[in-house]
Amino acid sequence: MKLILASNNAHKLREIKEILGDHFEQILTLREAGIEHETIEDGTTFLENAAKKAREIAEISGCCALADDSGLCVDALGGAPGVYSARYAGEHGDDEANNALLLKNMEGIQERGAHFACAIVLARPDGTALSAEGKFFGEINHAPAGENGFGYDPLFFLPEYGCTSAELSPEEKNGISHRGRALRALLEKLEEENAAKL
Ligand code: IMP
Repeated sequence: MKLILASNNAHKLREIKEILGDHFEQILTLREAGIEHETIEDGTTFLENAAKKAREIAEISGCCALADDSGLCVDALGGAPGVYSARYAGEHGDDEANNALLLKNMEGIQERGAHFACAIVLARPDGTALSAEGKFFGEINHAPAGENGFGYDPLFFLPEYGCTSAELSPEEKNGISHRGRALRALLEKLEEENAAKL
């Protein structure tokens, strides 16, 4: 069976291949599958957005489709930026502006707890779907540190590692991240389903 990833992100493709590769003959990005489509992410939860993306691609392609939606939720900001993480400062994907705004909004705040959240949905052309979620807990640092990762990683401090997630290697981060956890939870559900068929 072929799986289409509702994204063109090569980093996500590699991580998904590592975890779900044994369950699908081929895993392709949208571009590799020749699909040009952008889902309007207007859901109020990560799960709603991931489900919408996965369902649309499964319908268009007639294949299984996998979509994820993720973001940063800061306790002292009532869970913001949440589903607006990519466009917190206005422009979609401007990491520097998003980080600067986050630091500004956290000025003078002592309570720094936060988590990344990720929802993953596997939609099938017959209308059935599987979903899983993962969280990754940390604190908002007072200044950026580290060169790895993307998005809010330079501001996401991990007390048990004594560094930000931008200072971890990709392998270290994948082992503990929200996306890694959600993918492994989805793999467990797929394996349970397959075992039930035997
Ligand atoms: P996406 O929906 O996975 O593309 O992520 C939405 C936004 O959430 C990204 O643009 C980042 O700002 C933020 N984000 C999600 N996951 C991470 C992460 O692992 N590190 C840093 N930022 C992240």
